[in-house]
Order: sequence, then structure tokens, then C-alpha cells
Amino acid sequence: MMLMIILKQSEDNKMIIYKDFEFDMAHRLDEYNGLCKNIHGHIYKLTIGLNVSKLDKLGISIDFKMIREVVNENIIKYVDHSLWLKDSKNNEKLIKLLKKEKNRLLLTPYNSTAENMALTIWHILHKKIPMYTVTLFETPTSRVTVNHANYEAAKKSIVDFEFSGEE
Ligand SMILES: [Zn+2]
Repeated sequence: MMLMIILKQSEDNKMIIYKDFEFDMAHRLDEYNGLCKNIHGHIYKLTIGLNVSKLDKLGISIDFKMIREVVNENIIKYVDHSLWLKDSKNNEKLIKLLKKEKNRLLLTPYNSTAENMALTIWHILHKKIPMYTVTLFETPTSRVTVNHANYEAAKKSIVDFEFSGEE
């Protein structure tokens, strides 16, 4: 008996590709009442989920190497070994000092909570690759996942933000 497997390609034939990343980053939560108001660090784990539907003749939807390059070039090289602060009055002196010392610093109008970070990462990546989800682990037991609908609901606070700074 011969078994034939036919792979049909159609619009509903979607697959999700996941690629994992890791980076070290420090932050503090402005106006937070608790330990997280102090500068401290995490080993973050980031999983990027991508929507794909078509396979090429080799059976590849999207090259993992390409995903790695896009995420490294647009996210990891800025967040790794950096301090992500809210650009606020409370952080003014610290920001001034760190800029003078040419430290890696990320400034946003909002705190670098896992939720805000995941939305920011979505904002930067969704113009470049077919995003499905962004999952960010702040600790091994705490993570957030954001999708297109979450981003659409939150994007007013994130518009036009891009990473820049010391490499
Ligand atoms: Zn923290």
C-alpha cells in the first residue's frame, strides 16, 4: 500500500513560527510603591511568534536566520545590557549622569513593565515581519503575551517610538 501525503497551501493553512531570544536589562518602575522602584535587573526571555502560510520549494516558510537578524538588529542590540527608564522628572538626575557616562540607556514616556516592553517590541517589529505574538518573560514565572488586538488598543501611547542610543 502506498501512502500519499498532499500538503495543500491555502489562506487558512497558517502556521506559527516561534523564535526565542534572551537579554539582560536593568530598569526601575517610577512611582511604584515597592521593591521595583529600585534599579534592578532581569534576564529576559523573548519569544517572537510569526504568522506564516506559504512554504517555498524547500519546505521553508520564513528563514529562522532572517528572524534572528531582524530581532537582533532592531531589539536585542539596544535592550541588552541597558537600563530602560521612564523619561520622568524623578529620573532626571540619573538620566543626565548616565548620558554623560555614555551608558546604554532607553527612555520612554512610560515605565518598562513587561507589558509596555512587549507592546514596544511589537510596535518596532510589526512593520518588518508578520507578527503573531510577542511573549516576554520578566522572570521564569512571570510573562506577558501581546497580539495584534492588544497593540491596536494600546498604540496611542507608543506611536512613533524607536530605539536609539549607544551601542
Ligand atoms: Zn523588574
